[in-house]
Amino acid sequence: MSMTIFREHVNRYGIAVLTTVGATALRIELNPVLHDRNPFGLYFLSVIITAWLGGVGPAIAALILGTIAAAHFIILPGNSLLVDDVADVFALAIYFVVGAVAIALFHKLTEERRRFEQQLKINEELSSRLSDADKKKDEFMALLAHELRNPLAPIRTSLELLDRADIGQEQLAQVRKTIRRQLNQLIRIVDDLLDVSRFLRGQMRIVKEPVDLRTVIETAVETARPLMRERDHSIHVWVPREAVWVIGDNLRLTQVLSNLLTNACKYTPRGGRIQIAIEQQGCNATVEVIDDGIGIPKEAQVGIFETFTQVNTCRAQEQAGLGLGLAIVRQITELHGGQVSVFSDGPGCGSRFTVALPLAENVVPADDCDRLNEESASEAIPSGKRVLIVDDNMDAAETLAALFTFDGWCTSIAHEGGAAMEQVDVMEPDVILLDIGLPGMDGWEVARKIRARKLAKEPLIVAISGWGGESVAQQTLDAGMDYHFVKPVDVSQLQAVLARRLTGKAAAVSGALD
Ligand code: ADP
Repeated sequence: MSMTIFREHVNRYGIAVLTTVGATALRIELNPVLHDRNPFGLYFLSVIITAWLGGVGPAIAALILGTIAAAHFIILPGNSLLVDDVADVFALAIYFVVGAVAIALFHKLTEERRRFEQQLKINEELSSRLSDADKKKDEFMALLAHELRNPLAPIRTSLELLDRADIGQEQLAQVRKTIRRQLNQLIRIVDDLLDVSRFLRGQMRIVKEPVDLRTVIETAVETARPLMRERDHSIHVWVPREAVWVIGDNLRLTQVLSNLLTNACKYTPRGGRIQIAIEQQGCNATVEVIDDGIGIPKEAQVGIFETFTQVNTCRAQEQAGLGLGLAIVRQITELHGGQVSVFSDGPGCGSRFTVALPLAENVVPADDCDRLNEESASEAIPSGKRVLIVDDNMDAAETLAALFTFDGWCTSIAHEGGAAMEQVDVMEPDVILLDIGLPGMDGWEVARKIRARKLAKEPLIVAISGWGGESVAQQTLDAGMDYHFVKPVDVSQLQAVLARRLTGKAAAVSGALD
């Protein structure tokens, strides 16, 4: 027992002794008034004071001491400890039992108070965390609005430019480029938000197939190349001659590396040098993305992979985002059984991000030539084919119809399910592009009804919806549709799929894209 604990025990049990001595002295003083009445009242007081100040152990000690003192000094003053009067013995026993019960109740009360105080502390912590989260949410909403406005502003200006009658060809091309780039930025923000929400709900799934990391790097570099060019960075890619196989999701791994490359571009001043390299270390493949940019302070490196984390000094950067990119990188890497880490010597010293993934054993590469995302629009669409576009958002329906008309399709539009059913009878479409969230009858129901009619010429039905994810895509297939595309749709990819189906060159693949 340490000295401090010993001293604390002496103090607490000292209270028992002091209060008992005090009670005895007071009782003896009061003897001329009380005589033999109420011999133990003051001892109750000593037990309760001791319990209050010293706790249960000292209170029991006070109870025992009080019993002995009462027997010795009050009931039989100046005689022995032996009590021979039965009534006195009973009175002593009752005092003892009542004292013990009082201590037990006191103990219970103290325990409850302790628990209550603990709960209060937990509640206070929770409420402070809640208000922190609330504050973070407000900050995030402000940031989100800011990040959404950033691409919206040039789109609006570009549209105003398009309204000018005297716009030249060169300017037109520039405006188109701007709109496309800013739109891609908007899509990226929305995709990141959806990805993070999927992670938080534990719904992120990855495909597991052999993937050559060299291909992943190649695609990621291509994705980041426009930004690199824009910011005059040079890129150096170091890959081995032989394939580096890992088991995983090609698209998601590309997302990891393109996020890292995009960050390297964003956080490196113009004209920087960016490197990406693969190395094999034991049973791992490591990919390093190195830049000579603004670097990251040591203390900021710890939480950098958390959602919404941004290094303050970077907020001023024109390219800063929502603080989701690295969180997504970590989540995807971990879903692949890998790890991601960061190293930087500090501000101004550049950064190095390392992704380590387990190497695949005995790989038999999958034949991935059938993947929908690699389909190209090289297939010509037979002219005169009929497409019915069903969407309650008039602008969405009309712009899509305009594009299809340009490409030689006969188009028709419906804005809700009932009208769509009528149009099916009138125009006998080859393809129906069907929004899911329609007013009244939803897209799935419309599709089920069309399939139930068992038409002589069954149209291809393609869901085009704001909702993505496996379960939604499955519902689409269950409703008898052929494909599920998530808005905003890449029209050339959609037309490539349609062309292959309509020319009969593709097997009847039912797939989901999200
Ligand atoms: P975002 O770029 O949208 O802010 P990220 O999650 O991708 O979010 O990155 C989080 C933060 O990490 C960034 O805000 C930036 O401060 C810092 N960061 C990421 N990559 C780099 C890098 N290559 N160099 C310097 N800082 C970086």
